[in-house]
Amino acid sequence: MQAHPEATGEVRARALFGHRTAAVLARIAIVVIAFRVVLAALFDHDPPIDTTVSAAHIWATIAAAMIAAACGALAHLLRRNRQLAADVRRLEARIEDISDRNFELKEAAERMRGLFETLGDVIVRRDDDGRVTYANDAYGALVGRPPDAILGTVLAPAVVEQGAVTATADGTRIHDQKLDTAAGPCWIAWRDVQVRGTDGRAETQSVGRDITDRAGTERALAEARDLAEAANRAKSRFLAMVSHEIRTPLNGILGMADLMLDTPLTPEQTAYANAVKTSGGMLLSLIEEILDFSKIEAGRLDLEARPFALGLLIEEAVELLAPRAQAKGLQIASYVDEQLAPRVIGDVARLHQVLLNLAGNAIKFTDRGGVAVIAEPGARPDEIILVVRDTGIGIAPDAQARIFDEFEQADASSTRKFGGTGLGLAITKRIIERMGGRIGVESAVGAGSTFRVSLSLPPAPDASQTARAVPSLTGTAVMIVSPSMIDAPLMARQLGRWGAATCVIADERIATAVLPERQWDAIMVDHAIGTAGLEALARSVDQQVTRRILLITPTERHALAALKDAGYTGYLVKPVRAASLAARFTGNADTFDPELPPTPVEPGDEPPLSYSGLSVLVAEDNEINALLARALLVRLGHRPTLAGNGAIAVEFWLAAQAAGVGYDVVLMDLSMPEIDGTEATRRIRLAEAERGCPRTPIIALTANAFEEDREQCAAAGLDGFLTKPFDRDRLAAALALATGSSTTLAA
Ligand code: ADP
Repeated sequence: MQAHPEATGEVRARALFGHRTAAVLARIAIVVIAFRVVLAALFDHDPPIDTTVSAAHIWATIAAAMIAAACGALAHLLRRNRQLAADVRRLEARIEDISDRNFELKEAAERMRGLFETLGDVIVRRDDDGRVTYANDAYGALVGRPPDAILGTVLAPAVVEQGAVTATADGTRIHDQKLDTAAGPCWIAWRDVQVRGTDGRAETQSVGRDITDRAGTERALAEARDLAEAANRAKSRFLAMVSHEIRTPLNGILGMADLMLDTPLTPEQTAYANAVKTSGGMLLSLIEEILDFSKIEAGRLDLEARPFALGLLIEEAVELLAPRAQAKGLQIASYVDEQLAPRVIGDVARLHQVLLNLAGNAIKFTDRGGVAVIAEPGARPDEIILVVRDTGIGIAPDAQARIFDEFEQADASSTRKFGGTGLGLAITKRIIERMGGRIGVESAVGAGSTFRVSLSLPPAPDASQTARAVPSLTGTAVMIVSPSMIDAPLMARQLGRWGAATCVIADERIATAVLPERQWDAIMVDHAIGTAGLEALARSVDQQVTRRILLITPTERHALAALKDAGYTGYLVKPVRAASLAARFTGNADTFDPELPPTPVEPGDEPPLSYSGLSVLVAEDNEINALLARALLVRLGHRPTLAGNGAIAVEFWLAAQAAGVGYDVVLMDLSMPEIDGTEATRRIRLAEAERGCPRTPIIALTANAFEEDREQCAAAGLDGFLTKPFDRDRLAAALALATGSSTTLAA
């Protein structure tokens, strides 16, 4: 700001006047002094002057002295005046400076106000009594009054809804409020802080932001999510219902096809019946996958934590898949590192499912070579790495992440060669993640795939007592002759762990050449090298090699007799279990004894069931399923009685009890008209309790495979659980379990 121009001129004028006056006074003083000097010169000469002149002299002197004193005083005043003028100038400069700064501060305050108002934030300050000490325009708009009119009042918009309040480390309170404002309802997100007011007292400064739009969006999202969840639940219920409805007739199709295959048929009829059975089986596995996935999606995947033998689980899964692999001419083998705890805690059924899916895929996508399933310890404590490796078609890099999503397949074209739903890996990944593990794949097109699962499975407390007996083969030399790149190396690894020195040779000519090189304790020869090779080797092996073991697949058993004659001392059925391998190296060398190795059971080889001739009441409303159950029971040697619904079943049961010929077991369909299976079971249990008669085992027949169905069954007093579709074996197993001592619900 500029100083006032008039004031500046006045100061200058005064200064100029001071200078000039001083100059005039100085001249007057000089003239007075000169006058006094002249007077002195005139009157100091002889002859002496008269007294009149002398008085004038005195007066002149006094006058000159007074004028000189006045001049001195005037000069002092003028100097002081100059000083004051300089001070005034300095002060004026300071005033100018301060005015400039004041002007800038006002501008900055205006800018800030403009900014706040543009942001639209609501600002209000209140003292301890809640009285407004400051409010901006936006707050005024909320209350519906100008900000000045609110000052000193406790006016505030009504709170319609209060959100949760959180406090930050610096004491700021953060909360949302729905307010009923002058402009209608709105959501404000507040930040309240304690500040010092102008009078030094504490005040609460609240800065609020209008989040009405955001809150609306969030609300809409929450509603959409609730709707989606409800739809998801409805989808799961729908799938469960559809699956139930499909399973029931499927039970009839599969069961009847089975029964038909047991009757005398022409080769053409057998082919058709087999086709019906295969298609039915495929439909069943499809339904099961969809149902399983919907169950997992609905968050209904409950895991068990029970001790189980990890090695056995892997060997059984591999044995189950072996016929499929061997039918394609593939090798399949497993290896379980002995450093792993023999028994671990986890969900064995779900792990079995994971292994079947990974190894099943490996077989499906492999045409040459084979599949290896390996379990070894991971780097962290209790960590187990499951590896499923194949020599198949491989997976392109871009498809490797995609295949773990639902309904995703590496080859999504309509001309794809391999069937499937694309759900298996999605289910597998979810199971593994639910177990707290990870799954990944390494693969290259044409170079096979390796799926790796990492899981933490704690050892079972009884693990040390059930440790496997490990043979000591230190100093034993074993030659394995096999073209397989899968099971021979894994067998060599196993024998090596037990201390043996091993050598894997791909064909019999090299083997014959290597044989004389050293003393061998055992030679294992794969049937896959061909009959000529087998015989040639048998001839060239020194009889000193005590163990001459054949490796065969179940379908090659027919050749055993001839090969025994050729000089082999024993055999192992592929895929070879670790326990069978150990048994071959610890027991008698001459072991063509079929009972010794725990080889896989082939279909039709199972021992006859030791129980038969049970009197079975079948409560089933579906005629075809009732017919099937009756036919299967008759084939198993039992005596079935059919009841068309729950009420008839209870009636039959009571009548049989009264006649003293109670049923040995009841097969109870769960969903029946009039009285359903659970209610009928409750009535039978009640009658048993009233009469004090022994408990009749009751097995539930159901197409619902959910865990809670099992729980419901157990709660209703059922002893077993048979999921449709069932076949002869599963029916026999369920009967055995229910009539035996076990009270576990059968799958
Ligand atoms: P599905 O086998 O029913 O198609 P999955 O979810 O089990 O469904 O597998 C998804 C896809 O991943 C398969 O379609 C296939 O393209 C690919 N895939 C899975 N395992 C292998 C494997 N071992 N080798 C090659 N491709 C595989």
